[in-house]
Amino acid sequence: MPELPEVETIRKGLAPCLVNVRITSVDIRESRLRWPVVAADFSTWIIGNRIVSVTRRAKYLLWHLDNGAAVIIHLGMSGRLGIFAAESWLESHTHVIFHLDTDMQVRYRDPRRFGLVEVVPPKQLETWFRFKNLGLEPLSEAFDHRFVARSLKKSKKPIKNWIMDAQNIVGVGNIYANEALFKAGIHPARPANSLKNDEQRRLVESVKSVLTAAINKGGTTLNDFRNAQSEPGFFQLDLAVYQNAGQVCGSCGAIIERIVMSGRSTFYCPSCQR
Ligand SMILES: [Zn+2]
Repeated sequence: MPELPEVETIRKGLAPCLVNVRITSVDIRESRLRWPVVAADFSTWIIGNRIVSVTRRAKYLLWHLDNGAAVIIHLGMSGRLGIFAAESWLESHTHVIFHLDTDMQVRYRDPRRFGLVEVVPPKQLETWFRFKNLGLEPLSEAFDHRFVARSLKKSKKPIKNWIMDAQNIVGVGNIYANEALFKAGIHPARPANSLKNDEQRRLVESVKSVLTAAINKGGTTLNDFRNAQSEPGFFQLDLAVYQNAGQVCGSCGAIIERIVMSGRSTFYCPSCQR
């Protein structure tokens, strides 16, 4: 499942191809995604308009149009969003095609159809319901030691679950939660409110540095992640603990262990993470 670095990687790849480009038409080949794709919204607000910027909020990509409307896209479990030459071969499970005035197309492909392709009419983005309960962007300045100290105090949940809860911070799923906790030297099952001052600081730094490193490597490709140009990412080569159970910890030589927390595989070094 794509996490923040993968969505940010797609955003960076799409933006140069989309900014100042007009959407000339939209083909909806399959409207039954997790939420139905509404053709009328595209003809009313999107077609014929120019994209002015491509941004990201949590794991949503947002295309902002010159009329104030926006397209929001979420990749769900298996969604892919890529830019293709108009005449190039069409892969199966391509559900939505955005035709552009550049002879290129953006194609949304999603075998499991858990994603979202939705139109936000002008002036509604700031109050759009999907963004209402989202927590902080982990790479923003607002996600700092003061915020973490305040928030952790109120939670007895394991720290890993706190990190993965999008009402606290957004976009950090199982891969990067495991990696950030290793980097911070914190055991994933520790109650959130048991973290000491210096551990809280290390947690903030580790979340930020792991996500930044992953973005710089173009995301993590374990199964099928591809960027907007259909290329894989390379952060999987730098994973310290994720899916490394039974292997030697690169920092201390102990054996990395696997436990299951809230149904998710959790990897940690019993010697580095206390
Ligand atoms: Zn270790």
